[in-house]
Amino acid sequence: MPSFWERWMPDEYVASVHDIDLDRLHRQGRRLILCDLDNTLVPWNDPQVPEALRAWIRRGQALGFSFCIVSNNRGPRVSRFAKESGLPHIAAARKPKPAAFQEAMRRFDARPEETVMVGDQLFTDVRGGNRCGLHTILVLPIHRREWWGTKVLRIAERFVLNRLRGRGLRAPERQAGQAERSGQDWLRDRS
Ligand SMILES: [Mg+2]
Repeated sequence: MPSFWERWMPDEYVASVHDIDLDRLHRQGRRLILCDLDNTLVPWNDPQVPEALRAWIRRGQALGFSFCIVSNNRGPRVSRFAKESGLPHIAAARKPKPAAFQEAMRRFDARPEETVMVGDQLFTDVRGGNRCGLHTILVLPIHRREWWGTKVLRIAERFVLNRLRGRGLRAPERQAGQAERSGQDWLRDRS
């Protein structure tokens, strides 16, 4: 029986998607990477697809990964980015509810143990992925700017992150140019 806090414990915690060891995940038999959009792949509501992100996606695809955006943001925002990036997507996903994760796995004919969830939020991305038995990777949010609802959640997230730190979670170093962050910074400053 997993402990109460385990439900929010990510399998990995890295600064950004670029720090994810795609080769290792592939060797471990993972085939599908579900990505949160806002503050995981790009800043909140930013429609641009940076070249470094395109390169990361291409590298993953060359290894044999399929990618799918799973976002709680609205359809038009997500589909615009999806079109720009060429990635399939599920918008208004209502994470952490399992339905969108399950739909994505169905779409790509992937089992939970073959599937990775990458996101910047504990209560939606990590919790939802853990609930479905996926390999979960928490990243530092790209930018401070967020939806007001997310800002509220960050306060509780900060509390849970501290509990997880007591259970061995190590915060990654922020990268050069990466913006300051509320919850994670607080966690790191105390470690
Ligand atoms: Mg996010």
